[in-house]
Amino acid sequence: MDNSEKKLCPYCNAEINNNAQKCKYCGEWVIKNENDLPIEIKHFNWGAFLMNWIWGIMHKKYITLLYFPACLIPVIGPILISIWFGFAGNKWAWESKNWESIEQFNEVQANWVKLWIILAVLSLIILIKVFVVLSLIGSANV
Ligand SMILES: [Zn+2]
Repeated sequence: MDNSEKKLCPYCNAEINNNAQKCKYCGEWVIKNENDLPIEIKHFNWGAFLMNWIWGIMHKKYITLLYFPACLIPVIGPILISIWFGFAGNKWAWESKNWESIEQFNEVQANWVKLWIILAVLSLIILIKVFVVLSLIGSANV
């Protein structure tokens, strides 16, 4: 392992050693492991919950593809596995890459929820249009 590699402190943005456990500038703990997630990201990941396997692929968490076999159990399967993704999501995402800061991390994860809202609104609009077209065709046939 290359010990000379640098990373940025998520608290003060100072350049510190990659294997440093504590930032020598601001004194914050910067260790990255599953038992020591920053408190600011210890929350439910709605992006992982809502976008499940798409979110998973983008975070190189291919275990989220278990979503498909989970769908074999109607309703309960996808809901339960999505709840699991939601709880594990921030830990997975945090480990998936070197984030510039906690703010950047939370912002990117919030964008996943926005993406889901956009997609949900778009599919609703498409559904309504399909329904309108179908009912027009239906009434034309009478
Ligand atoms: Zn610092």
